[in-house]
Amino acid sequence: MAKGKSFTMTSNADWLNRSLKAVWHPCTQMKWHDDGALPLVPVARGQGAWLYDFDGRRYLDAIGSWWVNLFGHANPRISAAIRDQLDRLEHVILAGFTHAPVVELSERLSALTGGTLGHCFYASDGSSAVEIALKMSAHYWRNHGQPDKHRFVCLTGSYHGETLGTLGVSDVELYKEAYGPLMRHAITVQSPDIRQAKPWESAADFTHRAAAELEAVLKLQHEQISALIVEPLVQGAGGMAMYDPEYLQRARALCDQYRVHLIADEIMVGFGRTGTLFAHEQASIRPDFLCLSKGLTSGYLPLSVALTTDAVYAAFYDDAVTRGFLHSHSFTGNPLACRAALATLDIFVEDHILDRNRTFAEQFTELLAPLANHPCVRHFRQRGMIWALDIDTDRPDFRLRFYREALAREIFLRPLGTTVYFMPPYILDNDEAALLAEQAVAALNAALA
Ligand SMILES: *Cc1c(COP(=O)(O)O)cnc(C)c1O
Repeated sequence: MAKGKSFTMTSNADWLNRSLKAVWHPCTQMKWHDDGALPLVPVARGQGAWLYDFDGRRYLDAIGSWWVNLFGHANPRISAAIRDQLDRLEHVILAGFTHAPVVELSERLSALTGGTLGHCFYASDGSSAVEIALKMSAHYWRNHGQPDKHRFVCLTGSYHGETLGTLGVSDVELYKEAYGPLMRHAITVQSPDIRQAKPWESAADFTHRAAAELEAVLKLQHEQISALIVEPLVQGAGGMAMYDPEYLQRARALCDQYRVHLIADEIMVGFGRTGTLFAHEQASIRPDFLCLSKGLTSGYLPLSVALTTDAVYAAFYDDAVTRGFLHSHSFTGNPLACRAALATLDIFVEDHILDRNRTFAEQFTELLAPLANHPCVRHFRQRGMIWALDIDTDRPDFRLRFYREALAREIFLRPLGTTVYFMPPYILDNDEAALLAEQAVAALNAALA
């Protein structure tokens, strides 16, 4: 019935009304859309850092479409790689079969970890990669004759996804509240989030205090603990909390000492977001599991992967089927998505992205000085290509007001509560960066007025 409609309906209003009837949007109180409190933006197309709606308006995608887009929309190199693969093989089962894109991608990802994480297990979204790491970790201990080691430790303010398993190792009350009885709760220890240091405490002392709390838990309960899971350097959805690499060094040493796995969830921070290709590199450590998604395909297609070590792999290698890792997803290792990921890795090398980002980050931080020095801004912080700041305001509707005011100025920013952050694609030119910085201050003043 609605088939021909797509061609006749061309205005924002048409798509908006149809979407609100038929599409249940994620992470959204749908009534706010109907009330007009939260605008729904129908996107007709994307080009570079810009999204265009059906009424001819444009929005600078300053959060990389939920932290996934690295090299802009409609990137010709990534599109060409997918198109080329599309004519060869769109998909094939990965149990009992293999294909070139998944082999090449696995080899390259392994090489990027110096060969220490040489075994790649794929899924389609970040939460599933985290679930895989959790299951593999506990199953590893079971295969090693320690079936009691099945509990997990996470940090306060952590976010690892929204399936029941990943909510259990997350600490964002807003997303968990309704599902408490359905979950298996992890042990939560103090986050090294530098903002939480006491006024009299140095940053180093605070990092040590957080590590000491982790040590106390591991010392007491390591016989029941399978793994510690962390978002290295920046805790994302919990409010862009940043912390010192030294915490990761301490965590790595403690995990070794107490025979507990370290899971690095780099779904947000991976692929150059914190300045290095992987965030854990800044602590000169390697995790036992590395979870990747989001930027893995530059935000083109859903793909995620959990990488792990020879030691973990060996624990499952046996004649008995039940000692194997019997986990699967229908689209595991999809060839199109793997090609998008390979094209993404090529761009990192060919365009010297990490170097380019370093220069851009310095300049953009300068451009954000008026925001950093704004009287209502607290804890302006930056790491690599992430900028965040907290707004000191009593307005309960600040988040929505800022979001609307930014959109009105062609800027797409989506605060987490009263935390405003920037996670732009790695392709902004000087004019776009200047526009973004300038309009963000204007939107802030308007939202606070
Ligand atoms: C987004 C995210 C996830 C979940 O990934 P999905 O693809 O949304 O399931 C897990 N961990 C972190 C750190 C994330 O940012």
